[in-house]
Amino acid sequence: MWFVAALVAIGLSPATVSASLSWVDRDSSSSTSSARDDGSTRLELRPGPQVESAEPLGDRVPVSSAITVTFSQPMSRRSVERSFGIQPHVEGRLGWVDDFTVRFQPIRLARGVSYQLEVGGRSIEGVPLVGQNTWGFTTAAAPPMITNPGSGAPRVPVLMYHYIRVNPDPRDHLGFSLSVTPRDFASQMDWLAANGFHAITFRELHAYLAGAAGLPGRPIILTFDDGYEDFYTTALPILIRHDFRAVSYVVSGFMGRPGYMTAAQVREADRADIEIGSHTVDHADLTRQSYDGLRYEVTASKRALEELLGHPVLSFCYPSGMFSPNVVSVVQQAGYSDATTTKYGFWRSLDGRFLWGRLRVSGGQSLADFATEALRAS
Ligand SMILES: [Zn+2]
Repeated sequence: MWFVAALVAIGLSPATVSASLSWVDRDSSSSTSSARDDGSTRLELRPGPQVESAEPLGDRVPVSSAITVTFSQPMSRRSVERSFGIQPHVEGRLGWVDDFTVRFQPIRLARGVSYQLEVGGRSIEGVPLVGQNTWGFTTAAAPPMITNPGSGAPRVPVLMYHYIRVNPDPRDHLGFSLSVTPRDFASQMDWLAANGFHAITFRELHAYLAGAAGLPGRPIILTFDDGYEDFYTTALPILIRHDFRAVSYVVSGFMGRPGYMTAAQVREADRADIEIGSHTVDHADLTRQSYDGLRYEVTASKRALEELLGHPVLSFCYPSGMFSPNVVSVVQQAGYSDATTTKYGFWRSLDGRFLWGRLRVSGGQSLADFATEALRAS
């Protein structure tokens, strides 16, 4: 059974952080089982459980990796869960393959970070773990920045997705064109990765345009409109597997409705390096609102998402691509730093940042067409 583990970072003492990359002392300690701390002698001759294997190891570990520890004896699950620690802190889900193997799936590990892990606990017979119980690994580094900060107005394709699903109703033509199947989406992400694309966020693009950071090779931004639940359940695992970032435009008033992400899922996506942008409170056509209605849709959605996430929400997307000069100026005044339309476009400059165009990815589009479009815009 899976559950969310709010893991408390364990402060490892200097003696325990010496990360070993193997488990060489595996067979050396079966006589130490008398080292129990409850004074009992009943189990003294019983050998203590040991860690048989722990993964991952090494220094280029993918950020999507799960952490697994296999013990030599069936373990008391609660005792292991209580003692499991990873430092620096990562959120994720702790679960069991069976009584021998515990598995921690982080939401997403950070890039280029050295992690230290520790396990403890007792066998189901109450004998404490013996032998080595700490190890470490380092995740793969971020992609190198190959474009100097602020050097011109770059071409950065911004792809526009809606649903990542098999369209449930064959007669629903709009639903079909808005739905990229999970299989097609995975192929598209595979193709982008194989062809040297790096999926970034608007925050990274702004850092570049402001002269504060470079850009990796072939930068691309993947956007997902409306905050559908399949972004969390289907797209996010595929994105994390590729170490791709992305942008999810959430309709703040729709969170928790059937088919939409819950507030907890939006928060978890944010913690997995997904930029959460605003797509208004009610997915309203902003060109048909009163001034007060327009202000409300643009500012209340920003405030609700910022309260949920605990940091500024700076990207906006016009619902159904509808905007006017008045709409653009209200979005600008509300404190956003960029907004996207449904028009075609790929040049990125600060001047045009409230009318950034995108490339629509439609259901049924062939991979060849997808590749041609991505290359043409980059
Ligand atoms: Zn929309």
